[in-house]
Amino acid sequence: MTTLTADVASHPTVDKNPTPVPAYGVSHAAGPLAPLSITRREPRPTDVEIEILYCGVCHSDLHTARDEWRNAIYPCVPGHEIVGRVTRVGGDVAGFAAGDLAAVGCMVDSCRGCEQCGAGLEQYCPKVVLTYNSPDPHLGGHTYGGYARSIVVDEAFVLRVPPGMDLAATAPLLCAGITTWSPLRHWKVGPGQKVGVVGLGGLGHMGIKFARAFGAHVVLFTTSPRKTQDALALGAHEVVVSSDGDAMRRHHGTFHLILDTVSAPHDINAYLAQLKVDATLVTVGAPYEPLPTAVFSLILGRRRFAGSAIGGIAETQEMLDFCGEHGIASDVEVIPMQRINEAWERMLRQDVRYRFVIDMASLKA
Ligand code: NAP
Ligand code: ZN
Ligand code: ZN
Repeated sequence: MTTLTADVASHPTVDKNPTPVPAYGVSHAAGPLAPLSITRREPRPTDVEIEILYCGVCHSDLHTARDEWRNAIYPCVPGHEIVGRVTRVGGDVAGFAAGDLAAVGCMVDSCRGCEQCGAGLEQYCPKVVLTYNSPDPHLGGHTYGGYARSIVVDEAFVLRVPPGMDLAATAPLLCAGITTWSPLRHWKVGPGQKVGVVGLGGLGHMGIKFARAFGAHVVLFTTSPRKTQDALALGAHEVVVSSDGDAMRRHHGTFHLILDTVSAPHDINAYLAQLKVDATLVTVGAPYEPLPTAVFSLILGRRRFAGSAIGGIAETQEMLDFCGEHGIASDVEVIPMQRINEAWERMLRQDVRYRFVIDMASLKA
């Protein structure tokens, strides 16, 4: 077991007595996930300490830990789909008490003073502190994510879990959920619109559920014919296997919005061609390599190619509350921590139905 020592001496808000916490992480880009020990800060007055019960497994965890985005900091403890129970709160915390359920997504802090923070778009704050792989303003070093026993987060970045929700199935809402909710809301998806979702994985299956709940006609584009029945059961009205040229041509020029969730390089022009005039293809999928765009895919039809990152804190709470009211959650396969390496390999083989979630009770001290 590796013990990490944060650079506490050099930092002004130094915590001289951090708590050691068991976790899983990688020590280099080619390494497997393995047990290690990290530290969490002693709760400050506005902090909430959470025992992590479940953590979803996002493809971004893998992109980051394997340094596919060329920005990894090691050791890397991924995980940003966190649901747990509050164990301690600081003296100024008003909204949470020990014993409450709580959730944390992809961010744990931001500057709170910039234009984006003021607009509830903390995810676009230039000083956003991501749940993992960001400089840690409290302990020094960098932040560690949810593949761990516990986490300490400022109350302003802690979400409430609506009553009655299945906790394992709620965890993926904290990234896969909000990342698909936010663009569908931004582009005002609703009845009378035809919406495409590209890729049926963690994000894609939530995209289908939300687009359907908002009243759109939903079409899944997939490379995996075997997922057709699942997609229909999740709420898609139609499924197009992207290698079927005739099926692709039948839909040309008919979509109001397409949400691309693909994690690997692929031909974006094939999807731009599906858009109506003035319609938008928004990518949330984040392959590192460029996606070459033929300008005529945009010019002919005044089409737009856009992107979107997760969602703000208030918007995330709105999404969770909507899910609580409408009985929406992820379809999950719950795994023990010890099977995480196998789960990552299955995710790469597109063999995930439709989100792995780690049962953190399996993480021994
Ligand atoms: P995932 O569960 O692995 O799903 C990705 C899906 O993409 C696969 O199931 C597959 O669907 C399709 N796909 C994979 N490889 C492909 C290829 N070579 N060609 C065509 N399609 C392929 O991943 P995820 O967790 O949903 O994440 C998806 C992407 O979104 C990742 O890049 C992740 O980093 C990114 N992400 C972005 C944000 C954001 O804020 N923008 C937030 C979270 C995640 P089919 O089998 O149906 O083809
Ligand atoms: Zn994620
Ligand atoms: Zn800010």
